[in-house]
Order: sequence, then C-alpha cells, then structure tokens
Amino acid sequence: MKIALVGIGKIAVDQHVPSIAASDDWVIAATVSRAGTVDGVPAFADLDTMLAENPDVEVVSLCLPPVPRFEYAAACLRAGRHVMLEKPPGATLAEVYALEAIAKKAGVTLFATWHSRMAKGVQAAKAALADKTVATGHVDWKENVRQWHPNQDWVFEPGGMGVLDPGINALSIMTEVLPSAVHLKSAVLQTPENRQTPIRAEMEFTNNVTASFDWLQEGSQTWEQKFTTTDGTIVHLSEGGNRCVVDGHEQEVNELGEYPALYARMAELVKNGQSDVDLSPMVHVSDIMTLAQRQIAPAFDW
Ligand code: NAP
Repeated sequence: MKIALVGIGKIAVDQHVPSIAASDDWVIAATVSRAGTVDGVPAFADLDTMLAENPDVEVVSLCLPPVPRFEYAAACLRAGRHVMLEKPPGATLAEVYALEAIAKKAGVTLFATWHSRMAKGVQAAKAALADKTVATGHVDWKENVRQWHPNQDWVFEPGGMGVLDPGINALSIMTEVLPSAVHLKSAVLQTPENRQTPIRAEMEFTNNVTASFDWLQEGSQTWEQKFTTTDGTIVHLSEGGNRCVVDGHEQEVNELGEYPALYARMAELVKNGQSDVDLSPMVHVSDIMTLAQRQIAPAFDW
C-alpha cells in the first residue's frame, strides 16, 4: 500500500521512515512537511495538494505533535484515506471521538497508535497477569527531555502534556497489561515557573498502583513497571516494556520492534476494514490534569 507521512520531524526520521522501508506491506509515496523531506520521496508543503495529486495514497500516517494533528487527520479521513495517529492521539479526548465518527462515516480505518504497547515484553506481562488480581504496583518513567525532545517547545505549551507525553507511553502499557482497570485517586504535578506543562508527576491509582514520571533524569533512563499479585507473582517490565521477568524468570518476548509492529498492525486493520482507537491511556492523563495538586518547579530552559 502507498502511504504518505505528515510531519517529518524527530520521530518520523528516527522510527517511521526506517520501519516503513523495512516492511513489504508499505511504500512511502509522499511526505508533507514545512521543512523536512525524505530522500527520493516526493515532498509537499501542503496536505491538500498532496491528497489531490496522490489519489492512490491509501494511508496517511500523522507524525506531528498532537495540537495541530486534528485538522490534518480530519482532512485525510474526509478524503477517504485511512489514518494512523502518533501518540497521544489528540490534544483532547473530544477531538479523537470526533475523528472516530468521521472515520466511521467515511468507512475508513483510524488507528490511534501506542508504540510502547508494542514493546517486545508487553504481551508476556499481560499473559502473566491475566486471571490474577494485582495487590500492588509501581511505574517509574524517568527520562531526559533534553535528549528525547531537544528544543521542542511544543511539549511545554498547552496541549503538549509535558512529562505526561512520555508518561502516556507508560500508561499505554499499564492499561494493556493490568487484568482489571484502575483509576486515579490523587496526583501531584510540578510545572516549571516559566512553562505551561508539568516536568514531574506523582500519581496514585486504585489497587495500590503508583507511578512516578520525571523528565529531568540524566544518565541511565528508567522505564519500568512492577506488579505484585495477590498470589505473590511478581511481574517486572523493564527497558520500556521490552524485557519481561516473572518471578525472576526471563520471559520469551515478541521479535518485532515497536514501530514495525505498529505498521504491521495498520496493514492488518486496513485489510480487515477495522479501526483501533483505545483512549484509556489518555483518559488517565485527562484525569491527572483534572485532579492533580499543582506545584511550581524551577524554570526550565534547554
Ligand atoms: P517534532 O520533531 O517537534 O515535530 C514533528 C513534525 O511536526 C515537525 O517536523 C514539524 O514539521 C511538524 N509540526 C510541528 N508543529 C507543527 C504545527 N504547528 N503545524 C504543522 N506541523 C507541525 O516532534 P516529534 O518528536 O517527532 O513528535 C511528534 C509526535 O511523535 C508527538 O506526538 C510525540 O509524542 C510522538 N513521539 C515522539 C517521540 C520522541 O522521542 N521524540 C517518540 C515517540 C513518539 P514541519 O515544521 O517541517 O512542518
């Protein structure tokens, strides 16, 4: 299938382009970006022109930040194209519900992707927790914003979500592996005095599940989740969900990496005429923004 990539920035270059190139399912037929290009691929600065001149592009993958994404997604769906959304799928829940309705009316596929859910050990953890009851759990998602989002001021603007932008990756894993849903009980957000979105977050969910997100972690980066069940089983996901150890035993994990797995899933969804829009990670983010205590943190500069 021919696919167009929109928003040729960090994640498009780091992950989308190589994953598409390595897959037999896809050919990159066009890009849309104000500045970025991909070698050998026709580049457009304007979405409408790309759509008009490429009626054979069946799928559009949107790699822009969440705030500008809705208009692009709606235009692609209305033009009868299947759409893949980077995470988080939108700036608000309501706009993603609106996209779902547009996709349904147009009879096309909408895939709200969660790349961390495709990490290699996530399904092993889900299987280990299935049919069990979680007694306690803790999520640590601690990384360096300067390394992963260099000079991307949008992450600190309204809708950029701050540390909840990587944190939603942790929540996308948590909501996938937990055998029953949890909900937020309390949260504390620390926001730099010169920014709009948080840089640290502490959360407490039901079932004694807690989470710590930190965007100022230097040195080794921590992306871990550990759950203990009422029968004493300990499930430990580390390396962003790519490694799973159950009661001290290393589990067999999936072979396909996160983005290749997303593109394989999209090919399957289009073939089967289905959509996949699970907003449960974003519901938690919305609840955190609603319920959290606010603290002012020192100013942040790149
Ligand atoms: P980015 O490099 O800052 O932006 C991606 C591209 O979006 C830019 O090249 C820009 O293209 C376009 N863009 C930015 N603002 C725009 C606007 N207002 N209107 C139209 N186009 C705009 O961001 P990124 O790191 O790739 O992140 C994009 C998405 O991927 C986010 O939702 C993020 O959560 C997700 N993601 C990021 C990472 C990561 O490590 N960075 C990892 C996984 C997922 P032009 O200016 O050239 O048009």
